[in-house]
Amino acid sequence: AAKAAGRRQWCRFQPHLHTGMMERRALQLSLEEAVQGAEFRLRYQPIVELSTGRIVGLEALARWPTSQHGVLLPDRFIALAEETGHIVQLGAWVLESATRDLAAWRATDAAGGELRVSVNMSARQLREPGFVDLVRDALASSGLPPGALLLELTESILMGRDENIEADLLALKELGVGLAIDDFGTGYSSLSYLRELPIDMIKIDKSFVRDIARSPADLRLTDGIVRIAATLGLSAVAEGIESAEQRDLLADIGCRYGQGYLYSRPLPPEEVADLLRTTNRG
Ligand code: C2E
Ligand code: MG
Ligand code: MG
Ligand code: MG
Repeated sequence: AAKAAGRRQWCRFQPHLHTGMMERRALQLSLEEAVQGAEFRLRYQPIVELSTGRIVGLEALARWPTSQHGVLLPDRFIALAEETGHIVQLGAWVLESATRDLAAWRATDAAGGELRVSVNMSARQLREPGFVDLVRDALASSGLPPGALLLELTESILMGRDENIEADLLALKELGVGLAIDDFGTGYSSLSYLRELPIDMIKIDKSFVRDIARSPADLRLTDGIVRIAATLGLSAVAEGIESAEQRDLLADIGCRYGQGYLYSRPLPPEEVADLLRTTNRG
């Protein structure tokens, strides 16, 4: 009887769950169309050298403009795209667009040759056979040197210790492509991957940066991360810098680079060229 009751309960119609499933299904269908029609857009957020304010890189962030729900942010569609596999095609589009855009900016920017573009990667993309060739092709068709591209990986990707992924990362490293750990400190990190994988950069998650000015513990933690990076010869980038106070504290503890609303929101590509002109002049 208990089992039957449990079962009945399980099957009972739950309006909010039903709506959730319908929405999800609808979103999944429009995702399919959006991927086919390349309906996505990229925004770029500058990565800045804290001591000079100079823009050294741009991080590509995906946006999905929809007629029904306005512009959707990645938290609404990236996980879904990973589940359905659409991330492979979407990710290829991001890689291609970001390298093409950077090539155009490098041609006009005063900082020219130093400017890099960062592209976020999901585990599913890295597991796809031919991933290294995809990166190579994007570099070839944009004409960018491999060092102009930085791939951002999350700790969860590396904790899987997938041999095929690790071999691909080594191949990319040999090619000259940069590798960054995104949201550093938020995953299950054993830190051993920092020793074993060819990582160039640590991006300190914005959850550490947020309270840095009022929490001595957070400041010490961030200081520790910056020291780990320095010890291993990696560059450190602080995410989510919103105030001058945060910037100064980060610079004080030796964090060289940062990004956040203090400097700029993620911008449409048309606005990036202007920003480069006014910021990197001379
Ligand atoms: P992320 O790579 O850690 O990107 C940083 C996120 O922080 C971005 O959110 C950015 O808009 C936001 N942000 C930047 N400055 C500030 C700040 O000062 N304060 C605060 N509170 N937030 C700030 P966004 O654009 O919504 O992207 C969220 C996440 O979605 C990204 O986190 C990244 O993991 C993922 N993502 C974005 N584009 C792609 C993509 O093309 N492919 C994949 N696989 N993931 C992507
Ligand atoms: Mg990122
Ligand atoms: Mg991040
Ligand atoms: Mg994130």
